[in-house]
Amino acid sequence: MNILHYVTQKQEISPKLKKLKASCDAAVAAGSKGQDGACSSNSSTKSVTGAEALSVYDKDELQKRLSPVQYRVTQKLGTEKPFSGKYVHQKDEGQYNCVVCGTPLFASDVKYESGSGWPAFYDVISKDRVVLKEENLGGLQRMEVKCAECRAHLGHVFDDGPKPTGVRFCVNSCSLDFKKHTTV
Ligand SMILES: [Zn+2]
Repeated sequence: MNILHYVTQKQEISPKLKKLKASCDAAVAAGSKGQDGACSSNSSTKSVTGAEALSVYDKDELQKRLSPVQYRVTQKLGTEKPFSGKYVHQKDEGQYNCVVCGTPLFASDVKYESGSGWPAFYDVISKDRVVLKEENLGGLQRMEVKCAECRAHLGHVFDDGPKPTGVRFCVNSCSLDFKKHTTV
């Protein structure tokens, strides 16, 4: 089982992930203006309507709005039990948004079965949507993934993902809100 593999393997943050962090930081700092050479076919309006940059949500409001597990994971750096999340095997086409602020984070076409028990994506919709943070818990070094808009904890990113990126965003289902694509 993969989990054992992750626990027993000594983990350090690889240069690849440090580079990814740097490019996410740069993208967030630059806002969504012309970063990454992304073709402008996607004309989605900037971020969440009316939300201030880095808006901080009231803890009481969040506790009411989110389920206990959603609150624990997104606000207290929790982790849902493997294979317990509702999106682990979700295969529908659509978009995964931040459960707290609604920012679009991951698209279904980069989701894959990692076997780890959590939804896995090999890319983000845009690098300015997430911030990465180096984390060191008792010698276990990991790269934490947070929502760039509201700083909700999403999960972690590892460097064992498939091509073309080679990275694996391992995200808690309860940090996400899936919106199915509707055919026009
Ligand atoms: Zn968010």
